Amino acid sequence: MKPVLPFIANPTYPFTAQWIDALQRAMPDERIVPFDALDDAARATCEVAIVANPRPEDLRALPALTWVHSVWAGVERLVNDLGETDLKIVRLVDPQLADTMAEAVLAWTLYLHREMPRYAAQQAQRRWEPQEYLRPQHKTIGLLGLGALGEAAARRLLDAGFKVCGWSRSHKTLEHVDCYAGDDELPVMLRKCDIVVCLLPLTPQTTGLLNASTLSLLRKDASLINFARGPVIDDAALKDALDRAALGHAVLDVFAVEPLPEDSWHWRHPRVTVLPHISAPPDRGTASAIVAANIRRYRTNGTIPDAVNLARGY
Ligand code: NAP
Repeated sequence: MKPVLPFIANPTYPFTAQWIDALQRAMPDERIVPFDALDDAARATCEVAIVANPRPEDLRALPALTWVHSVWAGVERLVNDLGETDLKIVRLVDPQLADTMAEAVLAWTLYLHREMPRYAAQQAQRRWEPQEYLRPQHKTIGLLGLGALGEAAARRLLDAGFKVCGWSRSHKTLEHVDCYAGDDELPVMLRKCDIVVCLLPLTPQTTGLLNASTLSLLRKDASLINFARGPVIDDAALKDALDRAALGHAVLDVFAVEPLPEDSWHWRHPRVTVLPHISAPPDRGTASAIVAANIRRYRTNGTIPDAVNLARGY
């Protein structure tokens, strides 16, 4: 008899069937079922579940649950919803996801570096105004967050010829990357960046990290890319900086409320590019293979992969 392995997502999540299909193909020895299909015996005995933003009450209905494997890299909502808990939360760490994010970081960095928003605005006004060109070697890209995604992005930017610096909580040593750490060193880094790319997890410490005070450290022709989570940026402070032209441009892929409401100021702001949370969608094939390997190891010898540090929030 195959063990039952629930896939638990919010009922409004549109891709449950696709995930179950991909996970089932990666784990033929398991029976992957949605939460609603669990009978009482399975609910009482299941120790592990795969999750995509589940309702916390669904997890609490599984008394033997020891750990959950998220199919997403960002798990802040789950960490928040569960509060104090013994449940271990394992997030997705997938080199393919990091590669996709690195591609997005390079793409939108080039978009800003080659001044595409400015030339689009000039075209709309039929203005023929070539701007001065600076090679990537003269541009500094600052990465907020040097984790799985930040490191991959740093390598891709270096390959493209940019100068790269990065900021993390603990000190890092990455070849050719000017590394900064901790709150004290953030201003030093922000002052030297042409483009700042946010790849931080959302935690109590990173909420509102880019606020009136930190944004004021950026040069007025600097730009911002947010591929992390909306609330890392204080939205009112960002609007104010853009309105005053104290910041060049913001590429925003993530927002406090998603989908971004129709009446939101971001849609029409000339210094904002809105993206619908597309910078790095997980690849269901590679993610399922990683989840499968972790589940197989657990079934074989009880090993649970490294879990999120709940005190730190990531
Ligand atoms: P990660 O491996 O956990 O790395 C997080 C990085 O942020 C680490 O370098 C960490 O420092 C740093 N950090 C955390 N808190 C900090 C603080 N208070 N001050 C300074 N640095 C801090 O995470 P990841 O896999 O790279 O993913 C990052 C985030 O990207 C996810 O949490 C998710 O929200 C977002 N994401 C977005 C998309 C999208 O499509 N938009 C897709 C995937 C992920 P240490 O190295 O010292 O720990």
